[in-house]
Amino acid sequence: MKALVLSSGGIDSTTALCEAVEKYGKDNVISLSVFYGQKHTKEIISARKVAEYYGVEHIETDLTNMFVYSSSSLLSSSKEEIPKEEYAEQLKTTGGDSVSTYVPFRNGLFLSAAAAIAISKDCDVLYYGAHADDAAGNAYPDCSEEFNEAIGRAIYLGSGKKVKVYAPYVKCNKAEVVKTGLEKGAPYHLTWSCYEGGEKPCGKCATCIDRQKAFSLNGAKDPALEE
Ligand SMILES: [Zn+2]
Repeated sequence: MKALVLSSGGIDSTTALCEAVEKYGKDNVISLSVFYGQKHTKEIISARKVAEYYGVEHIETDLTNMFVYSSSSLLSSSKEEIPKEEYAEQLKTTGGDSVSTYVPFRNGLFLSAAAAIAISKDCDVLYYGAHADDAAGNAYPDCSEEFNEAIGRAIYLGSGKKVKVYAPYVKCNKAEVVKTGLEKGAPYHLTWSCYEGGEKPCGKCATCIDRQKAFSLNGAKDPALEE
């Protein structure tokens, strides 16, 4: 059995990679990172370091062209500012819509690209780190359990029943993901979550806030802030 793990260099996908290595062994795990026109490449650099840490094959691909028409605030082509407040606050003003950092159908595209690579590289399982905090309130609709089930079925059928999608944290909040990773010794010191590409995490964007909360709920310090 072989696994392909979509790795963004953040907490969730690093925990997923950690679990995949534990289950399948490092020689049977491939890490995949995707360029999508993001404002900075810190997350890709982190993903490379995590792959190196585990000694797994690392692949990078580029889907930037897919998003050139989007004004998502995560993209370098966008003039939108990245909001400096947590998701729950942002959702009060979106009227049930996704947040400004939502990149249109990103997970759908990433998973489709990953499925093509998984088939080509003889992988049976495709891991991705979607979790319930991101899906809450429709912030990122392509992180929901329902979406995961639907695309999982599409990929399974479309791959000739060869590739199964596995989102181990789709029902978990970020604190539960961090708990799993801390227990298993995931290399969180190498990860990057912040939407801004500064020297240090900004501590103010939604993903920084979510991350800090997840560590403090576990009574732990974020090792990425200690470097
Ligand atoms: Zn930040």
